[in-house]
Amino acid sequence: MKTIDQISFAGKKALIRVDFNVPLDGEYNITDDKRITAALPTIKKILKDGGAVILMSHLGRPKDGPTEKYSLKHIVPHLSDLLGQHVDFADDCIGAEATEKSAALEHGEVLLLENLRFYKEEEKGDKDFAEKLAKLGDIYVNDAFGTAHRAHASTAIIAQFFPEAKYFGYLMAAELDNADKVLNGAAKPFTAIMGGSKVSDKIELIESLLSKVDNLIIGGGMAYTFAKANGGSIGTSLVELDKLDLATSLVQKAKDKGVNLLLPLDNVIADAFANDANTGVAKTGEIQDNWMGLDIGPETVEAFSKVVAESKTILWNGPMGVFEMESFEKGTRAIAEAVVKVTENGAFSLIGGGDSAAAVAKFGLEDEVSYVSTGGGALLEYMEGKELPGVKAINE
Ligand code: AMP
Repeated sequence: MKTIDQISFAGKKALIRVDFNVPLDGEYNITDDKRITAALPTIKKILKDGGAVILMSHLGRPKDGPTEKYSLKHIVPHLSDLLGQHVDFADDCIGAEATEKSAALEHGEVLLLENLRFYKEEEKGDKDFAEKLAKLGDIYVNDAFGTAHRAHASTAIIAQFFPEAKYFGYLMAAELDNADKVLNGAAKPFTAIMGGSKVSDKIELIESLLSKVDNLIIGGGMAYTFAKANGGSIGTSLVELDKLDLATSLVQKAKDKGVNLLLPLDNVIADAFANDANTGVAKTGEIQDNWMGLDIGPETVEAFSKVVAESKTILWNGPMGVFEMESFEKGTRAIAEAVVKVTENGAFSLIGGGDSAAAVAKFGLEDEVSYVSTGGGALLEYMEGKELPGVKAINE
């Protein structure tokens, strides 16, 4: 793997694609800075070498060019605090200001460019736009795992302008190493825990995992599509009616491949999608009209935890229930605790980004698992066996 450890950045300007797409509140305060802190080791190594750093990122999904709400200038004070030094900002990611500020950058200095997605060319993967960005630096570093599954100008296309000077940053390298550990070298028994709202988002991953795992645990909202496909009553639980056949075929495939498929046995039910709703517990397939399943039940927690406890490798993607509400977080919390415990006993646990990462963080267990990925969609695609454009661009 071509990583930044292989060179010295002394006297060079590194153009680093980071993923600073962090959540901001109404007053532009960063509510979760994990994506920024995750990029710090790469930035610090380059500065320590005696290089200069030009950071480029996207923030949100701006539709029509520059928008105050999506300006990366809101990130500057916090980034500056984290680095303990001044961070300069260019109001436009290309053009005269970006060019002049990049050219004037001395070793040890940091410049952040304005949101790349203020230009439609970024997501289109426009070559001319990528070339304009490329002119700002001497070496290209990709440390944005969260967007590595996109063939955008700054994540993939730009790499062709640095045929001999393109590297993975530390975060990218760690993400790929940890994902590979699970994909290619998983110690057995290997258990995948899938949850979240929709089975349709994760079909490809589930199908590809069926050839690799010993146990496949399915919880969360997606489990009700399986319960319904099995002829059960699910009340008003989340369901994808057009995916019933798919659920049936996944159950059959698991059987054919000798995978132990675990679905919920019981469910925490509620009479409304609200934290203060009336709640109860119902067996799977026996949820009454007007009630909905919002978490796995106690019997299920026990059954799932037992399988987790006997595993040597765990891949977890998607919560077991509506963990954002205290009344329906118990299942996700219990599984998180089971994963922590088995990790203490020597198992390797990889937590997929997005909501599973948010859940583990909510329970304060981030540091108790082997690795929490910063990539949601990127990790899913990598795990499905797809070549990520951002990875390919550095490797080729
Ligand atoms: P996903 O983005 O597909 O991983 O789904 C994550 C979301 O699924 C979280 O916001 C959870 O609140 C939600 N979720 C999990 N279980 C359920 C459920 N039983 N009913 C409705 N939503 C759920």
